[in-house]
Amino acid sequence: MESDRPLQERFKRDAKFAVAAWNVRVIRGLPITFFPTIGAAVRAKRPFLTCVCPGCKVRGSVDLRAYGRRAMATVDTLIPALRCQRCVPNAPYVQIRGLRKSRP
Ligand SMILES: [Zn+2]
Repeated sequence: MESDRPLQERFKRDAKFAVAAWNVRVIRGLPITFFPTIGAAVRAKRPFLTCVCPGCKVRGSVDLRAYGRRAMATVDTLIPALRCQRCVPNAPYVQIRGLRKSRP
């Protein structure tokens, strides 16, 4: 049986490229044309999804490695679950600020 190492390396390289391209668009405030998957973020070693509450401006992050079972889901699918606890019960949806290597 052949090793799938070249394929895994290709997946890792593609994930890094996709996450970097998405991060640049988010950080520069450019229109978002796609969202990386949770699996791509983890594979690219950028597992921390950072966000801000538009209501109270509190910043937060979530470790996507805790969502490993949903590896094929895109990171934006987590937005409804990331409601700000300060602003409950009228918490607006958080705004995503990027994917990072570590917690901000
Ligand atoms: Zn808030």
